[in-house]
Amino acid sequence: MTRTAILVLNAGSSSLKYQLLCGIERLLSGLVERIGEPGGDPDHASALSRVLAGLPPAVTVQAIGHRVVHGGEAFRAATLITPEVLQAVAALADLAPLHNPPAVQGIRAALAALPGVPNVAVFDTAFHATLPPHAYLYALPYDLYTGGGIRRYGFHGTSHAYVSRRAAELLGGAGEQADKLVTLHLGNGASAAAVLRGVSVDTSMGLTPLEGLVMGTRSGDLDPGAVLRLGELYGLEETSRLLNKESGLKGLSGVSNDLRDVRAAGTERARLTLSVMTYRLVKQIGAYAAAMNGLDALVFTGGIGENDAQLRADVLGGLTFLGFELDAAANAVRGGERLITTPGSKPALVIPTDEEGEIARQVRAVLDL
Ligand code: AMP
Repeated sequence: MTRTAILVLNAGSSSLKYQLLCGIERLLSGLVERIGEPGGDPDHASALSRVLAGLPPAVTVQAIGHRVVHGGEAFRAATLITPEVLQAVAALADLAPLHNPPAVQGIRAALAALPGVPNVAVFDTAFHATLPPHAYLYALPYDLYTGGGIRRYGFHGTSHAYVSRRAAELLGGAGEQADKLVTLHLGNGASAAAVLRGVSVDTSMGLTPLEGLVMGTRSGDLDPGAVLRLGELYGLEETSRLLNKESGLKGLSGVSNDLRDVRAAGTERARLTLSVMTYRLVKQIGAYAAAMNGLDALVFTGGIGENDAQLRADVLGGLTFLGFELDAAANAVRGGERLITTPGSKPALVIPTDEEGEIARQVRAVLDL
């Protein structure tokens, strides 16, 4: 018997991540690297044809879901790809020069390799399309927004959408309030979202994924005047490299972009780095509690959020004023969805993210499968 499945593709500049899902069952997942580099596939089309050649027998690809980083203001939800949509996504390269062009290559490769199979673009920005103007506008000349699209868009939307929905399901099932959530996606990139009754009302990443929290190699928030000063000293390209690739955990600690290495280092600078990271997280959560006039629950996800018990403990330690109390034993348990707070506390949850599963879910919703 032939089974139908959804292929989820996440094309990076030199990589292609893929997952094949039949319902909630993962039939296959993998990563092709070094695309366009010596020894690797010449392009995404070649990488995809190898992926397709390796699909299990008796499986028909029913639809393809593509992760697209930037949907701009045009795309507020997952969208069936037509020639017009593809053109519009390609035109958004202005806003996401590193991220959207590879997605377009992935989409073109899929359209060519599997003609007749529907393709759906799922945007990282879409979950945050509900931000109100007071949250998405920067205090810049207004024309820069209307004419140039300079505003907060937010990213990691697929992850925030998934974990906020799961949290609402889990908490609702337990009879707990879940109207006002803060979701923390903490991986190599990191962002927080304020989710009010299932809708994103603020998020820490902005026009680009550089704004907000301390990340693996990205600075997060800093004085725009500091950016100007760096630009004067080092030029635009080097400043961009410093802020995107040499900052964050890596730059501050001088050790690594990986939190495990920073923890293991044990130097004064490493400790300072961890305290900057934690302080900024606590401050961000406090700001979102104010933005929603309350906070019902907190959700941790991403490589750090799911795995680093110390960070979760340190963050919750700064939130006793909001009614959070850590359950140290529960926090030490590894793996799976779990509650890490005491019975009398407001709930904080760890929910492993599932961006591919969420993309497949959105593909099914768009195509009514
Ligand atoms: P992600 O981008 O979501 O894959 O997250 C990657 C980051 O998660 C890595 O850079 C690590 O800093 C962090 N990470 C992964 N595993 C662990 C762990 N067991 N303990 C602490 N941090 C971890």
